[in-house]
Amino acid sequence: MRPVPNRGILDIEAYVPGKSKAPEGVRLHKLSSNESPLGASPAALEAAASALTHLESYPDGQADALKRAIAEVHGLNPRALLCGNGSDELLGLLCQCYLEPGDEAIHSEHGFLVYKIQILARGATPVVAPEKDATADVDAILSRVTERTKLVFLANPNNPTGTYLPFDEVRRLHAGLPGNVILVLDAAYAEYVRRNDYGAGIELVSSADNVVMTRTFSKIYGLAALRIGWLYGPEAVVDALDRVRGPFNLNALAIAAGAAAIRDRGFLETAVEHNTHWLEWTTKALTDLGLAVTPSVGNFVLVHFPAEPGRTAAEADDFLSARGYILRRVAGYGLPDALRLSIGTEEANRGVVASLAEFLGKATA
Ligand SMILES: *Cc1c(COP(=O)(O)O)cnc(C)c1O
Repeated sequence: MRPVPNRGILDIEAYVPGKSKAPEGVRLHKLSSNESPLGASPAALEAAASALTHLESYPDGQADALKRAIAEVHGLNPRALLCGNGSDELLGLLCQCYLEPGDEAIHSEHGFLVYKIQILARGATPVVAPEKDATADVDAILSRVTERTKLVFLANPNNPTGTYLPFDEVRRLHAGLPGNVILVLDAAYAEYVRRNDYGAGIELVSSADNVVMTRTFSKIYGLAALRIGWLYGPEAVVDALDRVRGPFNLNALAIAAGAAAIRDRGFLETAVEHNTHWLEWTTKALTDLGLAVTPSVGNFVLVHFPAEPGRTAAEADDFLSARGYILRRVAGYGLPDALRLSIGTEEANRGVVASLAEFLGKATA
């Protein structure tokens, strides 16, 4: 006799975070986790530092100061908000509250791996919808809906592809779903997107009973270490998640820093401008090297390598790692011939492109 975990648990392949080590003596450029090269707003750092003086007190279990700041900035009803220990926690709570063994949840072919992990953790079945041009395909998703479907996850823009669905398509997806299926719009990269036909989902959440949007402070706000995410959803869904979450799921530093960060709109603009410029520069530079780059609207690009010995993604990764440029392997996403590269500082972007030129030149020589 020995303890056996619940159904589904042992089918999970544990999430592997981006590597963060360079060889000794080599300067590290971590470009593997889509973190912000600009760090966090000074106002957020100051708020976190001042929260450090009261570590003996429990944080506010409602994270009110943070909810008020989010509600103000985005023009939302604070009662329709729920904060989480990273948006990862919120994705898990959605599965915990709405999936049971036998249920199905749909995600797209190269969708964020956390969905599959959380679906399996409930003993439910992840259903994969194929993509077209590395982009979620609304018809493929809708054709996989059954009576057992409870959740549909859409990362928009998606990680690791960087592609997005125009808002018309998101509306069409929602219109095709039965009312008991929740459409989860994971908009972790929304702030970076500069496209007129994009929408993170706020209007859809406001007008429907079965749509939620999740957001994070881990990317553009540069606060990944503090673990802050939020969800905007129908009050009935927020109420369900709120009953299940840990009573103090956000720590005091996170509440204080998050509220200050989201109010610093100037810092956010600077981060967006940095990304817009270097995303375009990096995409062009890599394309000029002869590499295929999936068009991205996020703060990272998916770079494709030939399957020829000497030029493969794995060999490029080893070559770059030895020089301190740490990228993300994405074989776990069904993309064995690609690497994901986060947009970094000017120095990192120029350096990684120069190293890749060297790698490819070596391979041809
Ligand atoms: C980074 C990321 C998140 C954010 O996760 P946190 O738990 O908030 O750090 C969520 N979804 C996607 C698609 C991501 O890439």
